[in-house]
Amino acid sequence: MTLKANRRTKIVATVGPASESADMIAKLIGAGVNVFRLNFSHGTAERHAQVARRIRKQASIAGNYVGILADLQGPKIRISSFRNDSVELSNGDRFRLDLALAEGEGDVSGVGLDYDALCSSVFRGDILLLDDGRIRLRVDDVDTNAVDCTVVVGGKLGSRKGINRLGGGLAAPALTAKDLTDINSLAEVRPDFVAVSFVSNAGDITQTRELLAQHRLNPAIIAKIERAEVVADEETLNSILRAASGIMVARGDLGVEVGDAQLIGIQKSLISKARRMDRLVITATQMMESMISSSMPTRAEVFDVANAVLDGTDAVMLSAETAVGKYPVEVVAAMADAALGAERQAVTRISGYRSDRQFSSAQETIAMSAIYAANHYGNVRGIACLTESGTTPLLMSRLSSGLPIFALSRRAETLQKLCLCRGVIPLFFDASAFDQDDVEPRAIELLVDGGYLQKHDSILLTKGSVQGEAGATNIMKILPVS
Ligand code: PGA
Ligand code: MN
Repeated sequence: MTLKANRRTKIVATVGPASESADMIAKLIGAGVNVFRLNFSHGTAERHAQVARRIRKQASIAGNYVGILADLQGPKIRISSFRNDSVELSNGDRFRLDLALAEGEGDVSGVGLDYDALCSSVFRGDILLLDDGRIRLRVDDVDTNAVDCTVVVGGKLGSRKGINRLGGGLAAPALTAKDLTDINSLAEVRPDFVAVSFVSNAGDITQTRELLAQHRLNPAIIAKIERAEVVADEETLNSILRAASGIMVARGDLGVEVGDAQLIGIQKSLISKARRMDRLVITATQMMESMISSSMPTRAEVFDVANAVLDGTDAVMLSAETAVGKYPVEVVAAMADAALGAERQAVTRISGYRSDRQFSSAQETIAMSAIYAANHYGNVRGIACLTESGTTPLLMSRLSSGLPIFALSRRAETLQKLCLCRGVIPLFFDASAFDQDDVEPRAIELLVDGGYLQKHDSILLTKGSVQGEAGATNIMKILPVS
């Protein structure tokens, strides 16, 4: 029997018109999606709730755990809509951003937007970037109600595309009125993750968590790092990381504001900082952009995904590729392949084991020791973690290892949250259903039956001496598979 090739890096796929049918969701799960992203910049709350139910149903049919991430729109500044959904702008054209134009009134001469501060925050000579920087406008004139621009780089501009200023600084406070309404609707979605867009400080995260708690929701909160100001301020960035469960390297907005050349290093430092602080990290946006309309990625895209994997990201994300693209299933498969290819490189397995640090709990001590032991004892083929909250497997996965971390839990919420965690395979296992003496053989049996282990392998197992208690992991054992 050959063992399964387990991909460690997780795939987040955005659901949209191209992928929201039950059939497509099933196919995407089959192709390797670990977390579905519901993008609250588009669609209605009812639609998202309906799609969420569909995802849960298809995941259970597939017998897989899959996470749901609700991505709040945040104070993204967007143009409003065009009469014919999009316009074609040519270099040298005049184009007017006009606060007086309503939805559906835009055309090739201008479009509305609902950012009242526009005219006081842009200046003559500024470069405005639309649709993740695809369209560039130069500001010629700022009026009380409108900004006149010249198209520097033209192309097709669709309705409701985002707008940024080169260098950053077009910013409204996080958590808009729409976000507050959307948070109220999340009781129907029951997401495992909530992403907060354009986070500017830790308060944005704590406020979101408090609002969610009012609905008895306790998802992992992901801070989207997409403001140039936040990346430039170490103190703010650290406090955001401490407040959140994870971050998204939101390369769309961030890359536009700081420029791609800067983004290369920022991506690396955000990923390693998140891992060092025991936080999750998603690398997002334009990873396989050409596959919106092409059945194959470019080599550059394959290498971009691979680079994020080598940087240590937990997950790579697809946006328009799966939401509106022509090849949603193929792009997930291509991304999975690229990730697997990168994971074969030994460089991803080097670990410092935090040898310079004091550990802060028994749980962390066990988690770190387990990875060290497993990496250095050739017989160990995997790590099984009996877990309630999922903290032990999360901590383990902050160190590099080529070995699978099997998170065994009876709690669906825990297993779904672990869907984002690199190297962790979430599996249902209710230890409380067995006699104490029977728990370990049953855990091993589950892994053998699942095709993850075979006879003569050894497994490293961690658990708490008090079964069923969160944060109580204090035992590590090496067991033969027999
Ligand atoms: P968005 O966020 O897709 O909601 O804009 C991700 C990004 O900016 O990269
Ligand atoms: Mn963004």
